Amino acid sequence: MVPEADVLAALRRYWGYDSFRPLQHNIVKSLLGGRDACVVMPTGGGKSLCYQLPAALLAQQTVIVISPLIALMQDQIAQLTQMGIEAASLNSSLTNNEQCEVIRKAGEGRYRLLYVSPERLARADTLGWLDRVPISLFAIDEAHCISEWGHEFRPEYRQLSRLRQRFPERPIAAFTASATRRVRHDIIDQLQLGDPDKYIASFHRPNLRYIVKQCESGTQSDLLLKALRQHPGSTTIVYAPTIARVEETVDFLEEHDIPTIAYHGRMDSDTRRRNQERWMSDEVRVLVGTIAFGLGINKAAVRSVIHLSLPKSIEQYYQEAGRAGRDGHPADCVLLWQKRDAALLAHFTKEINDPAEKKRAWQRYDEIRGFVESESCRHRQICAHFGENPKWQSCAACDVCSGEPAWLAQTVVIGRSKRKKSKRVTDSARTGAIARAQGVQPFQSAGRHDADTSGVDPELRDYLREWRRTTAKQLEVPAYVVMHDTSLDELCRVQPNSLAGIRRVSGFGERKTELYGQMILDALTQFRNNARAARVPQKASKPAEETMRLLAEGRTFSEIAGIRGREIRTIVSMVADLVEQGQVDLQNSWLDHEKRIRIEEACARLGLKRMRTIKDALPPEFTFEEIRLVAAHLRRLQQDGEQHPQPAPQDR
Ligand code: ADP
Repeated sequence: MVPEADVLAALRRYWGYDSFRPLQHNIVKSLLGGRDACVVMPTGGGKSLCYQLPAALLAQQTVIVISPLIALMQDQIAQLTQMGIEAASLNSSLTNNEQCEVIRKAGEGRYRLLYVSPERLARADTLGWLDRVPISLFAIDEAHCISEWGHEFRPEYRQLSRLRQRFPERPIAAFTASATRRVRHDIIDQLQLGDPDKYIASFHRPNLRYIVKQCESGTQSDLLLKALRQHPGSTTIVYAPTIARVEETVDFLEEHDIPTIAYHGRMDSDTRRRNQERWMSDEVRVLVGTIAFGLGINKAAVRSVIHLSLPKSIEQYYQEAGRAGRDGHPADCVLLWQKRDAALLAHFTKEINDPAEKKRAWQRYDEIRGFVESESCRHRQICAHFGENPKWQSCAACDVCSGEPAWLAQTVVIGRSKRKKSKRVTDSARTGAIARAQGVQPFQSAGRHDADTSGVDPELRDYLREWRRTTAKQLEVPAYVVMHDTSLDELCRVQPNSLAGIRRVSGFGERKTELYGQMILDALTQFRNNARAARVPQKASKPAEETMRLLAEGRTFSEIAGIRGREIRTIVSMVADLVEQGQVDLQNSWLDHEKRIRIEEACARLGLKRMRTIKDALPPEFTFEEIRLVAAHLRRLQQDGEQHPQPAPQDR
């Protein structure tokens, strides 16, 4: 048995932390004691440390971590390596030779942790060489993927059921952030855990404020802007339902002077990685992504997560929204949904063939619909969904309990209860309530998200962030691997002038201090000698201006899409807006004359309100893009009272 003092010493030595987060210590003890375990802990709870710390302490032995994402494995290994803990992964990004080398070293017990994907574990040859590895235990990350009742079922996780027979002596510990009671039972059954120690942390995240708002497409963008303006300069994730919506939203925000980057599955992997890094290193604060973004993202200081459509399930929402406020400081989770999202979800659910899966999907649909339409506390609903029975009735940190924040007040109110409007309160009213209810740091009414950085010189913060960015680039690791935001802010507050001083900053273990300590001291000296961060250059032109310039050069939509790194749909949609605003004229070269006449006739008959109705009335070869362009032109004519629009700027 590892002595208690050694456990705390390792926490300090490797991680540079003074204390455990709730449950961590007991989980570490269970694992060190060779017990099976099932751990459910919300995002940001600190799950990885629970198996990494035992791994660091069990010399000559190896923890096998099953993890679904290569990027996640790589980031964890980069962090462990920086802490001086030997770790490696086996995945498809390695060459054959590199894989053989990892397998050879693993057989010699050289790694404290070895990360393996579930697909890799399922391969016939893997179990053979694993026999030679001195395994201390198996840690299964994202364990809910094993259950069909979970929202992210992955068939390859089912292979993990074989671990128990094959390695009956080795403890298995399952970790997940989102599991209902049913999914928990499923995990325990599937992995054949024998009387496991169960650690179920509360799903209550008191530092998060849930705000759910039904809106229409016309008002959603305005609400998005308002939400973002509540958090100027702070890190935000916006989730959009489709790639086209991601691109449109990025263009819309840039148009409104909010630097933004996109992230979606169809981007080439280099751009995706670069965009992710720019966001991770605070170069650009707002990222708009599809749900492909986020798994394995370890950015603790996200101040808001905004959804532009209804998620598929409460678990999915909880997981995505939960990427806000992992540092424990206040953060907002804003869900701006529309009735048509629900119709779309219902449509996809109807299309599912497998009866059992269809039944589960309907259940998820009913639950999420119930969540957004219910008039009871959002925090409470989420906790209840995961099988908790919260003591409080009212949380003071959601739109139901505290009313809509003032900034969300809309002139257009769509079918929401009157009760809500009358309960509308200001942020500052809520501030005190949260503080009283949950004992967390109260929000400030203005710029409240700077609350956690009080005492931090913003110029020093920018300077150290720039240093971190450059250092991370040189070392080819994400910026947070060099240090987390919380450590960076503490450095700014303390401004240590010796290595011993740096070592006292949370997050600076022995090795990290060795690696960066002197560089940080030098950077602090340079700052005292008036060095400052360089200004990040603004983009040369805004999306609409750039698009108009390219149109004026005679570029086709497809060329513009290529140049601007967007889908053609996104470009056409922007051009249609420009036509409607009278900034650009509809060009004959954009669509066939006959088609234009037919669309104009259909619009005259059916009105300009519903593109879908017009599309359905025309033969299938008429695209939405063509219809949108012509409709935009007609709307412009209507606005001008049948006068032709002003000549477009480029034609003058
Ligand atoms: P999870 O996997 O549960 O989402 P992580 O393991 O990524 O959470 O941890 C979330 C954040 O909390 C990380 O930045 C991590 O370094 C930090 N953290 C974990 N344990 C502690 C601790 N005992 N003290 C301070 N910070 C911690």
